[in-house]
Amino acid sequence: MTVTSELQDFIAGLPKAELHLHIEGTLEPELKFALAQRNGIELEHSSAEEVRASYDFDSLASFLTVYYDSMRVLVTADDFYDLATAYLTKAASQNVRYAEIFFDPQAHTSRGVPFATVVGGLRRALVDARRDLGIHAELIMCFLRDFTAEHAMSTLMESLPYRDWILGVGLDSDERGNPPAKFAAVFARARQEGYLLTMHCDIDQEGTHEHIRQVIEDIRVDRIDHGSNAFERPELVAAIQERGLGLTCCPISNGWVVDGVKETEIVGLLEQGVKVTINSDDPAYFGGYVAENYERLAEVAGLGREQLARLARNSFDIAWLSGRERERYLAELDAYAGA
Ligand SMILES: [Zn+2]
Repeated sequence: MTVTSELQDFIAGLPKAELHLHIEGTLEPELKFALAQRNGIELEHSSAEEVRASYDFDSLASFLTVYYDSMRVLVTADDFYDLATAYLTKAASQNVRYAEIFFDPQAHTSRGVPFATVVGGLRRALVDARRDLGIHAELIMCFLRDFTAEHAMSTLMESLPYRDWILGVGLDSDERGNPPAKFAAVFARARQEGYLLTMHCDIDQEGTHEHIRQVIEDIRVDRIDHGSNAFERPELVAAIQERGLGLTCCPISNGWVVDGVKETEIVGLLEQGVKVTINSDDPAYFGGYVAENYERLAEVAGLGREQLARLARNSFDIAWLSGRERERYLAELDAYAGA
């Protein structure tokens, strides 16, 4: 079963915010080849089709292996600029009005690419896209949780000269054996420096309920990435609601790294009034940008316009936006979908 073309059009035009998107995960095979050529880097595959065929993940770990290897082609500020510009062009075409974009500085600085190169190229793309495409985007710096807390802290210090260009910090990569508590001091310091806080609680991870508890009670995050396993524990749902925390869910990505889209959890939380949102995570690897993620969820859960508009409304409600800008987008949404 697929959604009707009428619902597809409705989704495409729905004003929305994207809040869970790894810029490195938007590297399409065609751009990967172009950047490899520009930088004189040999690739294992000989065509974009071959690269796509190799994307056959069945777990978070198997995905991450391919993911980090691809980043070798990102070397200069222009490479990061082109990467972000390609994403923002695609997002604007799906009426993403506002995006908060994750980037992983350690995945680049650990290969010898300077922090300034990464953030400089990305920032230039964001500024140009706001002028040329009318899409507003901001950056969230993620720490790699399989690296040490010391490495995260030194990366935090390295980011401070660019504080005005970075809205908040997050935590991603392999969760196994790397609980939120490992980074408590780093996130406490990040808060002191004025950053907003979010953390990944990936789906069906070992210890996931305890990890969700830690991000809420110990780290005191401003948002949770994924985190839909909270659905299984009423006390976690209550804590999320009490603090008004949003969840950034990624249906298509769930289908790759675990068994299924997790529509029961996502829609179940939505119906309980939790601010869940729909996002694309790593669209070049999982084969779907944000509109396709709304479509997939609508398809498997049988959602209609009202629920889809509610998901889009949540995305503006929990975005790290100024009140005025939020009101402007919500008015657009009301005009489109009916208040
Ligand atoms: Zn993610």
